Amino acid sequence: MDYTPEDEILIGRQFDKLLESCAKIVTNEEDWEIIRRAFFLAKEAHKGVRRRSGEPYITHPLAVAQIVVDEIGLGVKSVVASLLHDVVEDTSYTVEEIEAMFGPKIASMVDGLTKMAGVFTTDTSEQAENFRKMLLTLSDDVRVILIKIADRLHNMRTLGSMPPAKQIKITSETIYLFAPLAYRLGLYSIKTELEDLSLKYRFPEQYEDIRQKLQHTEVSRSQFIETFNQPIEERLQESDIDFDISGRVKSIYSIWSKMQRKQIPFEEVYDLFAIRIIFRPSPIIPEKSQCWHIYSLITDIYKPKPDRIRDWVNIPKANGYEALHATVMGPQGVWVEVQIRSERMEEIAEKGFAAHWKYKQATLSSDEDEFDKWLKKVREALNSPTESAVDFLDNFKTTLYTTEIVAFTPKGETRKMPMGATALDFAYDIHTNVGNKAIGAKINHKIESIFTPIMSGDQIEIITSENSRPKAAWLEHVTTAKARQSIKNYLKRYRQNNIERGKEVLEAKMKEFGIPMSARVFRKLLPAYDSKTKDEFYSKLGAGLINLDGVDKVLRENAASKTLKFWTIQLANPLKIFGGGDRRREKKNVPAVSAEEPDFSIAPCCSPIPGDTVIGYRNPETDKIDVHKTSCDELTRLASQHGDRITSVKWSSHKAVSYLSVIEVRGIDRIGILMELTQVITGELNINIREMHIQSHDGIFEGEISVYVKSIDDLKIVIANVAKIKGVEFVRRRLN
Ligand code: MN
Repeated sequence: MDYTPEDEILIGRQFDKLLESCAKIVTNEEDWEIIRRAFFLAKEAHKGVRRRSGEPYITHPLAVAQIVVDEIGLGVKSVVASLLHDVVEDTSYTVEEIEAMFGPKIASMVDGLTKMAGVFTTDTSEQAENFRKMLLTLSDDVRVILIKIADRLHNMRTLGSMPPAKQIKITSETIYLFAPLAYRLGLYSIKTELEDLSLKYRFPEQYEDIRQKLQHTEVSRSQFIETFNQPIEERLQESDIDFDISGRVKSIYSIWSKMQRKQIPFEEVYDLFAIRIIFRPSPIIPEKSQCWHIYSLITDIYKPKPDRIRDWVNIPKANGYEALHATVMGPQGVWVEVQIRSERMEEIAEKGFAAHWKYKQATLSSDEDEFDKWLKKVREALNSPTESAVDFLDNFKTTLYTTEIVAFTPKGETRKMPMGATALDFAYDIHTNVGNKAIGAKINHKIESIFTPIMSGDQIEIITSENSRPKAAWLEHVTTAKARQSIKNYLKRYRQNNIERGKEVLEAKMKEFGIPMSARVFRKLLPAYDSKTKDEFYSKLGAGLINLDGVDKVLRENAASKTLKFWTIQLANPLKIFGGGDRRREKKNVPAVSAEEPDFSIAPCCSPIPGDTVIGYRNPETDKIDVHKTSCDELTRLASQHGDRITSVKWSSHKAVSYLSVIEVRGIDRIGILMELTQVITGELNINIREMHIQSHDGIFEGEISVYVKSIDDLKIVIANVAKIKGVEFVRRRLN
């Protein structure tokens, strides 16, 4: 029996619901026919197969099709492709057969989806390279990506039935790639849901904590919103404006990121919600004018914060988003964000690209479509053959997620740049040759360095010289993928000069630190930068393959700065050590995977200790399992690219072994503070310190103390006791 009677009822209901939603996109009898045929084919093809949750497999393609029509707003062909999206991948049907039955267009979409499925399910470690190949299909038919996002959304909604290692792989890909992609395609609600679901599975406790706090504060919040909205509603009604007003609470993920970013508790996140006004525009007044009219009516009631107006009506975001945002002073002195948009803008905000497409024909705008511009950028990035796949992904992510500023060319043409972009980025955005030859910039008619960060509204003219060429140091002053890539390409082409350039960079850096060049310096530098000879080091440096960001740390012990008081304590021979590359450990005392006994190593990026939730990453270079905290950013990056190497690990008993952990401390400097720190930790608590780096300047001391602890409980005690020391203002475990 392939489908039980209960299955049939469940499937029938789900299909009826899909047909109901399709009523708004179907135009003729043929459309109904092709949807039905796709459904019956998929149902037949997936028969006998069940999802982990126990439901028949066909419920998955049905759910994806439902998302595609309801939440993304795509048409009949996309619904058909969604229903068939796993048929070629998982069953014996071929693309040729699909083509014979459904025509070439749908067959090519299914083909695209099948290839993409391969990217995320295979055990190959070449996931990054595959992802790049997948993005190449982006230019062929964006609907394929949109369906893939719907597919991912449904898998995230049903992630609960997956084992933890699989959850980490899937949530990592989601947060690293799919959420930014959804954002870039303008799918705000889907992006938000993907982020919230990722958080829910990666940090269940923190997610639940925020959710409950939101629930507890709901009543007082809606009272506030009501009081705030009332005078606005009256005023808009008097002015005969047809509108809806609502208070929108921020997503759990965005609250969580703000708490992380600013290191603040929930109670200090003041902008938990925003007010949204959606109006149906009157036919005689342009939408744009109406937005500003509503803005002026509101600011008659509440004073606006002048530097917090965001005008995405005149200049939409690169993903097509349009709205007018303002922050005003509400009752009780609370800042409140108000978002003003028309119904059309609202649909674009919710459904993104698909809605944009729909309105594109309707508008007379002669501008190149925002989305087309973005696609062009992606293609540019894809076409740089020198980049490794992993670099590409990192760059691509940067291009996806940044917030934008708008700058002007001397002719008044607008250019969108990511936040933090410099005049040099701007030069490269205009043309690679302009970037390569840039020597300076006139920003608002004033001459500035090409490294000057640009601000929204700046007018920029790039000054070039035939004799100028890119230098490795430029890489430190650009943020856009295009500039970075162009500079790297140039540097690679001119490798023969790299050694010379490397010398320049090092000399400049040493001058900056006031360190004379000597054989001693090189004895420290070469091993630190994995180079065998001076020339190798120079050439890497000159080509921009390495940078000198941490060089002061490398040289620190020899080059005590003159302006800083500086101590380094290195305790000789601490007992029972177990840390990073340390081999002295007993099998019993390391995190253990069930029966196997592979080699483990504690990842230095996040240094987990017993009590932390951890996950393993099979490191192909060392053949060991690196143990990371589940919250580690580096792990997220690795898991998104090599998900197959992720494995569950747990701590086993740990009697005698200690783990290295780093705490950060900061406070008011006074005589004896170091001694007291050392005493509290080693004396009273009997914990070994490996090293202590404390700097003191302007009456403040700050630094890091590396200690050996047996578990997270030990560490908590250390932190609590250090916090009690007079003068200590701040102490916490280093996050990484
Ligand atoms: Mn699927």
